[in-house]
Amino acid sequence: MKVLLVNPPNCGRSIPEEQYGLDSLKLVLRAEPLCLEALAGNLDAEEVMIVDLKARPGTFRDVLADFAPDVVGITGVTCEANTVVKLASEVKETVNAAVVVGGVHASNDPSFFNKQDIDYIVVGLGKLSFKELLTAIASGRTAHDIPGVAKTRPGTGLAFTRRVYSRDDLAEESPPRYDLTNKYRDDYVMQPFGFSLGLVSTAFGCPHRCSFCSIEGITGGRYLTHDPETIIRDIGLLGGAPVIRLVDANTFGNVAHSRMLCQRIRESGINKGFVADVRSDTVVRHPDLFREWKAAGLRSVIVGFEEIDDKRLGAMEKANTAAINSEAIAILHDTGITIIGDFIVSPDYGEQQFRNLKDYLDKNPVDLPMISILTPLPGTPLYESMKEHITIHDLDYYTLTNAVVPVRMDEKAFYQNYADLMISGHARAKL
Ligand code: SF4
Repeated sequence: MKVLLVNPPNCGRSIPEEQYGLDSLKLVLRAEPLCLEALAGNLDAEEVMIVDLKARPGTFRDVLADFAPDVVGITGVTCEANTVVKLASEVKETVNAAVVVGGVHASNDPSFFNKQDIDYIVVGLGKLSFKELLTAIASGRTAHDIPGVAKTRPGTGLAFTRRVYSRDDLAEESPPRYDLTNKYRDDYVMQPFGFSLGLVSTAFGCPHRCSFCSIEGITGGRYLTHDPETIIRDIGLLGGAPVIRLVDANTFGNVAHSRMLCQRIRESGINKGFVADVRSDTVVRHPDLFREWKAAGLRSVIVGFEEIDDKRLGAMEKANTAAINSEAIAILHDTGITIIGDFIVSPDYGEQQFRNLKDYLDKNPVDLPMISILTPLPGTPLYESMKEHITIHDLDYYTLTNAVVPVRMDEKAFYQNYADLMISGHARAKL
């Protein structure tokens, strides 16, 4: 059986650009679709191809016609969901193939994809369930009974069995098929810093429950770690990449596991730079862990600071404080690890809140602030609490850089303040 796995093209839309001509500095991180490489790694009976439409937009119909797949699997985050549906229709117009949709949006809002040109939806971690689905399709049967897989029934509600995820779903014995994206590898660079990245997964899910976050849908709330030997193997497979992005929601969610992994990287003599995600309270509780990781090659961490006052952090269920955020910044600077800091601007910000955030960043400098706008992503607790106020329902705008509920300030002034923050934050960016 021939299986084509598809990474959709860049497709989000921007209110500040479209309505106010505000084209603030853009950072383009083009990275390999590790989720597809991992799926492909677990398929041994099939001929598999990956098409990365972010790297080669406009090639989809030609690839479909040339490869003539039996099954097409398409992944996508929320702002790509409309595009995923359009790609599914292109498949049905071009070849006779079953269409399977998975990824972050499918995991959090599977009903969105209960549409005519889509045959199945894979909900959550799919390495094992997608393989089970392909086995069913190959044997000619309609799969109604695979946990974590929904057969679409347009016009009626989706009915499927939720999967209880375990480490079996990681299928660790099968490494990602990094070779399937070799032809795109020169495109996988972080601009404007100019270095190329390879992606390795060390863990899925997160032990925390921030209200805006869509990670819970991937593992049903469980935190699952890869065996350190699996991670060492996968780093080794990315021989040429000087920097490895440990592309987890929370790389340090299990401190004992992180210590073991750090030790194995040092023992293995791996000489690479690492970029990983961490919570600020983990840094403050375990500063020694980050000194060890620095010696093992950790060059940058991505920290979800989110907000600068405790009341707003509490409202997000972040289970963290502004004081801990500031302490973590000081520890990381002291350790020599650069900080990519995520902050979230709320649509109810006024001039004063924007000024406060600017002052905070002046006093607590992070090397690369990444500032998003609070967005109620379908499937999250935040969505449930904000859904009555949503005025923009077109998911193309759910890029985390648009307000999809009314802003409190004059809208143009809101986006101008937002753009100014991005520009001043990125002016001193380093990684
Ligand atoms: S700590 Fe990070 S990954 Fe975990 S739930 Fe919160 S935002 Fe999501």
